[in-house]
Amino acid sequence: MPATELPPAETPVETVWKIVVNVPLWGQFDYRPADGTSVSPADIGKRVRVPFGRGGHERIGLITAIGPAGVEQVLPATLLDTEAPLLPGELLESLVWLHRYTVSPLGETVWQALPKPMRDGDPDTLEPVAMLTTTGDLATLRAGKYKSALESLLTQGVLPESEARERHTGAVVNELLRRDLVCLEPVSISERLALADAAGRRWRDEPEHPLHRLQLTQQQHDAVHAIAADPDAYHGWLLEGVTGSGKTEVYLRLIAQTLAAGRQALILVPEIGLTPQTLQRFEQRLGVPVDAYHSGLSDKDRAQVWLRGRAGLARVIVGTRSAAFLPLPNPGLFIVDEEHDGSFKQFDGIRYNARDFLVQRAHRVGRPIVLGSATPSLESLHNAQSGRYGLLRLTERAHGGATHPQMHIVDMRGVPLEAGLSPVVLKAIQVHLERGEQVLVFRNRRGYAPVLLCHDCGWSAQCQQCDAPMTVHQQGRRLQCHHCGASRTTPPACPDCGGLALHPQGIGTERLEEFLSERFADLAPIVRIDRGSTRTRDGLQQRLASVGDGAGLLIGTQMLAKGHDLPNLTLVVVVGADEGLFSTDFRAGERLAQQLIQVAGRAGRADKPGVVLIQTHHPDHLLLQRLLAADYGAVAQTELDERSKASWPPFVALALIRAEGRHVADVREFLQSVANAFGPYPNVMVMGPLPAPMPKRAGYLREQLLLQADSRADLHFALQRVIPTVYGAPLARKVRWSLDVDPYDLY
Ligand code: ADP
Ligand code: ZN
Ligand code: ZN
Repeated sequence: MPATELPPAETPVETVWKIVVNVPLWGQFDYRPADGTSVSPADIGKRVRVPFGRGGHERIGLITAIGPAGVEQVLPATLLDTEAPLLPGELLESLVWLHRYTVSPLGETVWQALPKPMRDGDPDTLEPVAMLTTTGDLATLRAGKYKSALESLLTQGVLPESEARERHTGAVVNELLRRDLVCLEPVSISERLALADAAGRRWRDEPEHPLHRLQLTQQQHDAVHAIAADPDAYHGWLLEGVTGSGKTEVYLRLIAQTLAAGRQALILVPEIGLTPQTLQRFEQRLGVPVDAYHSGLSDKDRAQVWLRGRAGLARVIVGTRSAAFLPLPNPGLFIVDEEHDGSFKQFDGIRYNARDFLVQRAHRVGRPIVLGSATPSLESLHNAQSGRYGLLRLTERAHGGATHPQMHIVDMRGVPLEAGLSPVVLKAIQVHLERGEQVLVFRNRRGYAPVLLCHDCGWSAQCQQCDAPMTVHQQGRRLQCHHCGASRTTPPACPDCGGLALHPQGIGTERLEEFLSERFADLAPIVRIDRGSTRTRDGLQQRLASVGDGAGLLIGTQMLAKGHDLPNLTLVVVVGADEGLFSTDFRAGERLAQQLIQVAGRAGRADKPGVVLIQTHHPDHLLLQRLLAADYGAVAQTELDERSKASWPPFVALALIRAEGRHVADVREFLQSVANAFGPYPNVMVMGPLPAPMPKRAGYLREQLLLQADSRADLHFALQRVIPTVYGAPLARKVRWSLDVDPYDLY
């Protein structure tokens, strides 16, 4: 018998699901369908249950691709989403982009985008909606809350049950149900889509539609015209418009046109900007339901908005940072309001910038995006100057009569101060209050005083866990660390010398409140607004409302700097601006200018002219001098020139690797090994390891590595090769570390 050796049979490589899970590991994992079926491209974007890791605990995974198996032993997984993928194509592709851009594990990136119930494996089902029956006798409702609820239900068409109950109260909805005026029944998605389309077109046919109430100014008209000219293509627009110039009105027109085309509009606003008034204004002017998406919603409500977005039912969504992750099968328009705002940057987990992510999405789907601000970021201005964005400007306030506020510098040198306030300022406050007007004292430091100092020996109260002084609270009775939250009672005597001369140094909002209450309580109600006094969105509204329409004195941090309409506010006083003038942070100048202009914009919105007084010891500082001319453009140009000379963004690309641990040697060794790994990439300049600006926080010792390259491509080329290896490095397990591409600050 001839000893013929048969060649080994070609075993075709099995095609499997490539799955990510929410773990800080690089790479995807192979699984096969547990039920023996074969994998299909239609599975991509669906969730699965998988046994994972040692012990094979069950986890939720998400299929990001299909492909040939890369391992011998492929474990089985069970599909969780049997109908549609949870992450539709464009969103998944955008998240893959984000994972590459932030150089973060894909699993963690995907998980960050999902509302919690979806992360946890809850089913992706939309709840039933309340719908009006036509059988009920509307005439039985002559007036009152039932009638108004019914009318608003009529204009909105259909409403999810939970939302109907929230807006019109459960009791009202129950009563309407009892009378057969409303019924709860599943309405098919296609019916709901048809209703949404009809609502979106209405403003075109109805001359009385609220949208037509205002005649656009020429500048507004030109902006709308330019942006709407090509709704089927990507175009980035920077809409630079002074506060009150009518940017929101421009958005509303563009959104209406998007609705009329049957498409979805997504509007990002800063955390503080998403007030009930904002939503109300949108709904009233557009005449359609507007979905809000923010951290104040319950997990369940967030998931429902997310799913309505995916179904194409949510046509107008106004949301904060994480709304950038909403699925939109039919997008028409993206807007980022106050695009310069720091709250669009995520500070932990995957450190993304929601604005930049949306620009990328708009580009991918080929739709316009509008970045609006009175004080655009230098990045966006640079993009406009280099032709990457179109620039549109609104230079005048839209509302007849409202003028730009007048800015004045108050020289504090050699002047006697009371609670940090100069006589000129105190006099001005009195005059405005006596006129029955409102005054805002802006101080971006909460607490009573930033430092507790011993006058005898110079000791000051430091946090034991952080390299930072403790802030004095409660008129000096408590000390609190604003970095780690540590809190203790104030010592009765100096721990170093035993002396009793412990004095709060400097001025916080509480101290201003104490002093101004003594001085002006008989003239006006006095309200302090900061994170100590006001924790919730609703709390903020209530406190603002408690001031009323007459004379009033508001003291607050940047929580007060924007958003809320205070028509009777005519004087803004800025305390402590000097701290921003001499900071080493490369963004400090930009941020100070933005903050001062935003807070100044609070004054004189209605028919009364506004005045802004900035207290300073440096009246000749160039930045302040330029701001006096209310010329953000000039400040921004100077800052841009300086960034260019000093090689800071947007002229170079930066990434920051932060690490912290109990032992500084571990941190140092880890960062040094990472620094060495960048050796083969000479186009990336590596600075560090160096101690972080705050070398100790919450008991952890912190160091960092700054990476800089002239070209973003060079930086990413190196990061994408080095960072995945760091995830597997043993040294990385001894420390907590993170990568921040395009860091907002170097802290
Ligand atoms: P911004 O968003 O730029 O701060 P808004 O859109 O909120 O400005 O407009 C400021 C105020 O001016 C609002 O009260 C708004 O109703 C009003 N307004 C806007 N556009 C016009 C217009 N074309 N005619 C009259 N009033 C307008
Ligand atoms: Zn002392
Ligand atoms: Zn601390």
